Amino acid sequence: MNIILLGPPGAGKGTQAQKLVDERGMIQLSTGDMLRAAKTSGTEMGKKVAAVMDAGELVTDEIVIGLIEEKLQGDHGGGFIFDGFPRTLAQADALGALLKAYNTTLDAVIAMEVNDEVLVQRILGRAEEARAAGKEARADDNEESLKVRLMEYYKKTSPLIGYYHAKGQLEWVPGLGAIDEVSAAIAGVLDA
Ligand code: AMP
Repeated sequence: MNIILLGPPGAGKGTQAQKLVDERGMIQLSTGDMLRAAKTSGTEMGKKVAAVMDAGELVTDEIVIGLIEEKLQGDHGGGFIFDGFPRTLAQADALGALLKAYNTTLDAVIAMEVNDEVLVQRILGRAEEARAAGKEARADDNEESLKVRLMEYYKKTSPLIGYYHAKGQLEWVPGLGAIDEVSAAIAGVLDA
């Protein structure tokens, strides 16, 4: 079973993906994590995307589609959770074609419903927590980049809601509750 977790930054996609990895042996494919790893290890690609990511803008479709294709060539485990991908209609089309080429399907698109105030609080809180724990906060977890990230989401990613709705694959879950409440709602969709 392959699913997409769709939602704005701070909706809790990463947290829920981790639970699905632990509980169902699924494989989390977070393009954000892959790009941050490339940035940290200082690969050519990492250097190329660093400034774009820090500003909160999207990196090119070509780069993220390439990252996903690499993973589809490997073990499919208990299925993939696409977390933070696709983020544009072109990426969604590419994912459809790739899944077909690798003889697999997209089983559900789970849209996490939240509101902007909560997102801003969560993300700025996440940066605070990291600093309080003596760790470095994400370079894009600041007010300025966050504004750009939200605008990128509304302009480029939110059209995917209509796209997957039209394909009959969209399922809404409330994203505002406690972590366990949200995961129960997701489990309800996956087990239906
Ligand atoms: P995330 O960890 O999902 O919030 O992603 C962090 C940043 O990585 C984003 O703000 C973008 O700059 C970049 N990024 C991650 N996934 C994608 C994607 N699918 N398409 C374009 N840029 C992405």
